[in-house]
Amino acid sequence: MTRPDALFSRVAYIGCGLINGSLARAMTAAGAVEHQVAFARTQATRDRVRELGIVDSVADAPAAAVRGADLVVIGTPVSAYGDVAAAIAPALQPGAIVTDVGSVKTAVIRAVAPHLPAGVHFVPGHPIAGTEQSGPDAGFADLFQSRWCVLTPSPATDAAAVAMVRRMWEAVGMHVDEMDAEHHDRVLAITSHVPHLIAFSIVGTVTLLEEHLQTEVMKYAAGGFRDFTRIAASDPQMWRDIFLGNKDAVLEMVARATEDLAGLQRLIRHEDGDALIKLITRTREVRQGVIAFEQD
Ligand code: NAP
Repeated sequence: MTRPDALFSRVAYIGCGLINGSLARAMTAAGAVEHQVAFARTQATRDRVRELGIVDSVADAPAAAVRGADLVVIGTPVSAYGDVAAAIAPALQPGAIVTDVGSVKTAVIRAVAPHLPAGVHFVPGHPIAGTEQSGPDAGFADLFQSRWCVLTPSPATDAAAVAMVRRMWEAVGMHVDEMDAEHHDRVLAITSHVPHLIAFSIVGTVTLLEEHLQTEVMKYAAGGFRDFTRIAASDPQMWRDIFLGNKDAVLEMVARATEDLAGLQRLIRHEDGDALIKLITRTREVRQGVIAFEQD
């Protein structure tokens, strides 16, 4: 179908799970693309993407997917990025834009950039939107609505290519910011990676309790623990890749959080109620800030 207002004539998705599957749906809803093609690693996922009809065609190899595409969106687990970039590089057309949705950015740039031929524009990106679900069935068109997307192009990146990727995310409802990749990784370490790490740790503690205690914890799961279990149900491979791909920033932020936790223990030990009130009053204000930014 010809869409006169489409931003792109052919978009190729490498990986078609929660994020790329949602983006494909949202791009269709926005009328932002004429033809969408997807590749996924397994035949089972490729068949499912075909059945769901979320793209116009499904390719059986990554190079076949990107041939003739003006935009390529890499949306696999981050540890696959290097192999994906090597596989698609020979088939990319001059002037094509390659972007991605990976949750870490310096590791992604290190893995992808060396493979891309001259004349292809790489605009790394991270839509800060998601759920603990995976796979193409989990995707939905509204996932990105009113959320933030961070682009981390290098200063040398073609400005027109960056502008096109920005327009794509805006077309599916996102606010877009640009920053350098190292800064992105430090910010996300504290807003996303360390909170997940704490959830994996606390829920992991429960798995080591005696069996009768484990049952009781699940039975009487109050708000706090229940919310941790939702976060801790996230995809294991994705989170392994995030922790290893953002190792330095995660370790730095965990060290700070550990210090603060020790401080909190001390307040309780010394029964310093006033300091506890002060801290929790401050943390409540952070919640108000999140609500004010409409990110609750
Ligand atoms: P997902 O639902 O598990 O989907 C991953 C997709 O990648 C699947 O289609 C999978 O195909 C495919 N894949 C895996 N290995 C591949 C390979 N070697 N070559 C080609 N395709 C491959 O994952 P997701 O949640 O969409 O996450 C994708 C990316 O988005 C990750 O880099 C993640 O960091 C980022 N991200 C995730 C979230 C979130 O909340 N989930 C939020 C923002 C960004 P098969 O099913 O055939 O294996």
